[in-house]
Amino acid sequence: MNKKVFVTRTIPQVGIDMLRKKGYEVDVNGKDRALSPRELVKTLRAKPYDAVLSLLTDKIDGPVFDAARTAKIYANYAAGFDNIDLSEARKRGIVVTNTPGVSSLAVAEHAVALMLALATRVAEGDEFMRAGKYRGWEPSLLIGTDLSGKTVGLIGVGNIGSEVARIMKNGFGANIVYYDVNPNEIVERSYGARRMATVEDVLRTADFVSLHVPLLDSTRHLIDETHLSLMKPTAFLINTSRGAVIDEKALVKALQNKKIAGAGLDVYEFEPKLTKGLIKLPNVVLTPHIASARESVRNAMAVLAAQNIIDFLETGSAKNKVN
Ligand code: NAD
Repeated sequence: MNKKVFVTRTIPQVGIDMLRKKGYEVDVNGKDRALSPRELVKTLRAKPYDAVLSLLTDKIDGPVFDAARTAKIYANYAAGFDNIDLSEARKRGIVVTNTPGVSSLAVAEHAVALMLALATRVAEGDEFMRAGKYRGWEPSLLIGTDLSGKTVGLIGVGNIGSEVARIMKNGFGANIVYYDVNPNEIVERSYGARRMATVEDVLRTADFVSLHVPLLDSTRHLIDETHLSLMKPTAFLINTSRGAVIDEKALVKALQNKKIAGAGLDVYEFEPKLTKGLIKLPNVVLTPHIASARESVRNAMAVLAAQNIIDFLETGSAKNKVN
């Protein structure tokens, strides 16, 4: 009998084609939205699926695993995998994979774009022009911040954080400091990055703090009110990792009270909802979780997720296993 794969939402065809070429029966959620938890459970109950290709907007937990009793692999179409309950997966002997690396450059560039947008006030300038407020050059209009010689503090220097270090060092001559639970000798050697003993040290030192940790129990609300109060009042906070790494209510308060200079965010604690007050702030630049939104990246993510399923179904192991 053909192996059966459920894909929770349309992904680039290249990934679907790879699965079909293996002779698998592939069902794709045809709705132009994520399935609700109830819909997902109902769909997975309908057929004895062998594998599920999931997205970061799917909450994959005990009830989902129970609905798909025969599915022994969940291939997440994302570098992150905080949408999947790994301990429930482990209990059931289910393998979870992700798509690391292929989006790193795009996400790093997006983090740098947010830094630049804040430093150069590009988004505010655009809004100003569209509002018809421009009356001609003015000496003190929308004064920005220098980047050169500034200190960029990276929290997490894995695939994405390392790319940010490279771009900021080579492109802008920034000093790089970082905190990571694992020392990264390559960024130290290549970009002169200085490892700090604690997150607090990075927050006290940096002019731009950029977050690149996965969302784990140990990183949830890593940046809370106390940590925000350690940052310089002239410093900017950038988050392209996961929203809940920051206590978003505390961030709004810190921005309102000018405890920090600004924030550039691609991810949100209560996505797609935004904490009250956030959009009213002039000192934030907000993007809708698009850091990896490039055609080449999405194709590569589809290929990697499909390959993880194929490897697992054919050999019993998958390269990007995270549990
Ligand atoms: P990675 O695994 O390569 O790097 C993560 C780094 O964080 C590692 O070096 C790890 O040692 C470090 N780390 C883990 N726990 C830590 C802690 N408590 N304190 C300090 N450091 C800690 O991951 P990556 O590919 O660089 O991606 C990072 C995150 O970015 C992903 O987990 C994902 O959530 C997010 N992401 C977002 C987008 C987007 O579209 N905005 C796209 C891709 C990835």
